[in-house]
Amino acid sequence: MSLQIARGREAKPPLRSLRAKQDARPRLQEATQPIAAATPAKKAALRFPVNPETRAFYKRFYPGTSTAEWNDWRWQMRVRIRTLDDLARIFHLSEDEREAVRKHTGALPVGITPYYASLMDLKDAREPLRRTHIMTGDEYLRAPGEEDDPLAEDHDTAVPGIVHRYPDRVLFLTTGTCSTYCRYCTRARVVGNPGGEYQFSTRQWEQALVYLQAHTEVRDVLLSGGDPLTLGDDKLDWLLGRLRAIKHIEFLRIGTKVPVVLPQRVTKNLVAVLKKHHPLWMSIHFTHPKELTAEVTESTARLADAGIPLGSQTVLMKGINDDIAVMKPLMQGLLKRRVRPYYLYQCDPIRGSAHFRTTVDKGLEIIQGLRGHTTGYATPIFAVDAPGGGGKIQIAPDFVVGRDGNDLLLRNFEGDVYRYPDPGGTLGRGKMARLAVE
Ligand code: SF4
Repeated sequence: MSLQIARGREAKPPLRSLRAKQDARPRLQEATQPIAAATPAKKAALRFPVNPETRAFYKRFYPGTSTAEWNDWRWQMRVRIRTLDDLARIFHLSEDEREAVRKHTGALPVGITPYYASLMDLKDAREPLRRTHIMTGDEYLRAPGEEDDPLAEDHDTAVPGIVHRYPDRVLFLTTGTCSTYCRYCTRARVVGNPGGEYQFSTRQWEQALVYLQAHTEVRDVLLSGGDPLTLGDDKLDWLLGRLRAIKHIEFLRIGTKVPVVLPQRVTKNLVAVLKKHHPLWMSIHFTHPKELTAEVTESTARLADAGIPLGSQTVLMKGINDDIAVMKPLMQGLLKRRVRPYYLYQCDPIRGSAHFRTTVDKGLEIIQGLRGHTTGYATPIFAVDAPGGGGKIQIAPDFVVGRDGNDLLLRNFEGDVYRYPDPGGTLGRGKMARLAVE
């Protein structure tokens, strides 16, 4: 089926990168490979700040690199750290890291932008950002309950690339490419050139668009992957435009980590493309306050200035961010950058992720440490994504102590109990008796 037929009306063929020279329908993974000879967009790129530590990093490990190159997202993609040799050239690898990287095959390869690597500790294998991006032997251990597709997304896949689980919204997996590969990724099976059944192509996009056109109950599309912001501006513009042309789709969202790990991608041109397709919201994946750099201040400012409501999503991970002393400055720092903390996720039981997973109690403890102790906007929703495809389930601290006649008894953030007049209410009834029994 041609793109025109899928669209149901005459239209120009999509843009340059969709019109491959030898194959009218290039595979996305090919099409999204970094362009080798891209010229740095000097003027726009130079506006990105580069802090002195980062400058020292690239002078040391990428000698001869200009600031314009460093700030060119295609350069960052092209020279990503992908191999054991790349890693060993920059990091003092532990024997465990070295062995884990050496024996890796298949999906979820190593991939780290030089920019993001510049934020990591070169010597300490326990440093949080490094732990989340350089594989270790723990990845090869499979704990009880862990699955390759714990959320049963494959089961809810309506057509390739479209996960239709909730009544009025879908997840649109647009690409398998990310700028960095997180070792705890829920879609580890899908990303980083996995092969097999997980392929991404413009043909697949066409099928997805036909499905969405036919399903008038879908009013909300979340574009994810992989990372949609690794697509070129023209492809993204084309896809967003096609989605926007479907009348019943009211709302588009992009899930991305790019503004954090490749902030240079948020060019003026990208922002101009995104602005054309409002209402467009964005969920940005943050992990740790170390990520809140001057560069990220700039990328989030550009997006916020374009009128894109920004929310964050963070995976709770043991030894990485499972401490209120880490989580609070992250959430407060996000607010300062006009990013509203949205979700804090319990780490999904993906195969080989037990070393990252905390107890669920820890998530509640973090929420309790935020709720009332800082701005309400800085408190995300804590959620478990139910294994087997049950969807997100919010877990919140229980501030209801019980009931005394017409009074509801509530505990505040400091643990003090207050009465609230609530004649006729039932909330809390029997709770104190249950507590007494327990
Ligand atoms: S950026 Fe997102 S999709 Fe890509 S590896 Fe990380 S968690 Fe997975």
